[in-house]
Amino acid sequence: MAQSRPKINAWDKSPIMKERYQAILADLDGTVNRGELLIDGVQGVYSRLTANGVRWLFLSNNAQKMAEDLAKKLSDLGLDVTSEQVINSASALISSLEKDHAGARVMVLGAPKLIRGIQTAGAVIEKDPLKTDIVVVGMDTGLTYEKIKLAYLAISHGALFWATNLDPLFPVPGGFHPGAGVVVASVATAAGPPDRVFGKPQTDMANLALDRLQTPRESCLVVGDRMDTDILFAKKARMDSALVLTGATSRRNLGEYDYSPDYVLDTIVDIETLFD
Ligand SMILES: [Mg+2]
Repeated sequence: MAQSRPKINAWDKSPIMKERYQAILADLDGTVNRGELLIDGVQGVYSRLTANGVRWLFLSNNAQKMAEDLAKKLSDLGLDVTSEQVINSASALISSLEKDHAGARVMVLGAPKLIRGIQTAGAVIEKDPLKTDIVVVGMDTGLTYEKIKLAYLAISHGALFWATNLDPLFPVPGGFHPGAGVVVASVATAAGPPDRVFGKPQTDMANLALDRLQTPRESCLVVGDRMDTDILFAKKARMDSALVLTGATSRRNLGEYDYSPDYVLDTIVDIETLFD
């Protein structure tokens, strides 16, 4: 009887770390940049690892801008990035609309750029709650009671409730402002929790990243500054993760979570040590 062959773990054959990670999925604010400033040294590590064949994608929960706007912002700050290298919660939401809900009638509580992106995906922007198929809620600086009411009525008449992300805060120079999670909560208080959330820690962006990279998830390293979004996202997506301490988390916060990153690094520049 033929003996079954022992399984060989590909990693055991290649203990050299650089063969283990072929792609970096990096968060933006707090990780690559802080507001309008790049983290010190990020350009160097980006260009050296890129030259060595490592591929970079940048993943942001921000749905106030489209991927191309975020790529342009990074390029303006001095990091030469194409729009194909950026995925945000709006990209994931729009991709799902295009794939599974073509021609849907969508009510949007969100930024003008998100509304245009949804239109470009072939959806119809709807204001009548009785005709709405999907209510999309994101960061909406023009939020009114009327909008909350129409969203509630649409959902209570059977429309799906989609949220871009649940971030309670977003960073601004010198601190934070209330984020999309606050807008989602105002609708959810009346209508119940959203049916879908597209931002981290949910894994829609990971699936989009894997599609784009055509790389196994074991070869991807997630880098981010938040435990409850970035590191939890990596855990759910079954990818390795590195927490950086340039943003929302400090070493003393780590014990507050029942999961942990694979690496804790002072800054994203230190990921280069994982590729030596
Ligand atoms: Mg961040």
